[in-house]
Amino acid sequence: MDPIEEAALLDALQRWVDKEVRPVVMRHDHGDIWPAELVAQMAEMGLFGATIGQEYGGLGLPATTYAKIIAMMSSYWMALTGIMNSHLIMAAAVERFGTEAQKAQWLPKFASGEIRGGLALTEPNAGTDLQAIRTVAVRDGDSYVINGTKTWISNGIQGSCFALLVKTDPKADPRYKGMSLMIAPKGPGFGVGKKFDKLGYKAIDSAELVFEDYRIPADNLIGGVEGQGFFQATGGLELGRINVAARGVGLADGALRLATEYAQIRETMGKPIAQHQAIQLKLGEMVTRARAARLLTLDAAEAYDRGERCDMEAGMAKFFASEAAVKNADEGMRIFGGYAYSKEYEIERFYRDAMLMCIGEGTNEMQRMIIAKQWVKRNPA
Ligand SMILES: Cc1cc2nc3c(=O)[nH]c(=O)nc-3n(C[C@H](O)[C@H](O)[C@H](O)COP(=O)(O)OP(=O)(O)OC[C@H]3O[C@@H](n4cnc5c(N)ncnc54)[C@H](O)[C@@H]3O)c2cc1C
Repeated sequence: MDPIEEAALLDALQRWVDKEVRPVVMRHDHGDIWPAELVAQMAEMGLFGATIGQEYGGLGLPATTYAKIIAMMSSYWMALTGIMNSHLIMAAAVERFGTEAQKAQWLPKFASGEIRGGLALTEPNAGTDLQAIRTVAVRDGDSYVINGTKTWISNGIQGSCFALLVKTDPKADPRYKGMSLMIAPKGPGFGVGKKFDKLGYKAIDSAELVFEDYRIPADNLIGGVEGQGFFQATGGLELGRINVAARGVGLADGALRLATEYAQIRETMGKPIAQHQAIQLKLGEMVTRARAARLLTLDAAEAYDRGERCDMEAGMAKFFASEAAVKNADEGMRIFGGYAYSKEYEIERFYRDAMLMCIGEGTNEMQRMIIAKQWVKRNPA
């Protein structure tokens, strides 16, 4: 994207965050309240089509610009970006792997935010081991009939359509060959179970989805060919991991910003704590970590934009940036001393929100294995 246009876009979004988001974050976070007004504004600004192609009404932003937007927003309120992220991964699956008819039917509505949703992969017995899912889709004439349960699905209550990972051949060996990805709008047989009460990542709904003889047209099979779902779902995770990395960058930056301000205001022993060496050591490490996380994330986003395979780069960015977020939030808490523990200050939200980045879109344990496998493959002895 043209750097001047990108700067103007980021500047406009920064003004929106300052004016509309920052004043209401604590109310929504503490009350676990869905930010309906902000979501409407995000739709108006085109954010639900951020990475969808312009031919479908999206903004067609490259992953690099998208990552910068997500990092900026997350440095004030990470949860808000979760409303866009899994929605855009669903859209990316349709745009990358869908038939022309599917793209024409769904992408314009995803881009406008008229239909919002997410990605439904995880099940009670299958998170990391996605191939163990039990949700089954059985072909019946021109339809599929689906039964099963998904859990932890972001936007599960407020969203109206999901990219749903199912087994179309539960006996397939290897297991991934029996997996397919479906476009699943809410309707008869598609129920919403419990909403999770979470440590952080408040205001955005994480819910269980229950499918009981839920029937969808066979045309909703992404790409029109069974057995491609595992690769379609995990292929979309590259963009998802870049997004989680960008959220980690934002959290690391935000914790740093809050700690930097506080360290210059709070005085002990007759001087601001920023002048004590123990605090300087923390700030020095925090700013370095945040910068390194940003550079790794942009490196992965650039590889994605060039159309290269970037599971290693996205994995490194996700792993490092999420750990940077946790560490910076932790150090931020220490810099705030006792006040860190008060909900009157914002730093505790960063502490509660950061840990999720180590779990979502593939745990950091798995990331390290993905990184190592790719690294060895690229460097044969
Ligand atoms: C707030 C929130 C929002 C979420 N949103 C979504 C969503 O929108 N859509 C969706 O589909 N899912 C979503 N998830 C689910 C998330 O993707 C899973 O929780 C995650 O993939 C981990 O799966 P699990 O919880 O089943 O853990 P498990 O797979 O049971 O893992 C438990 C532990 O074992 C480790 N482990 C597992 N297998 C291995 C292995 N082979 N080698 C080494 N270590 C291993 C893991 O790293 C982890 O430390 C969300 C989760 C949360 C908490």
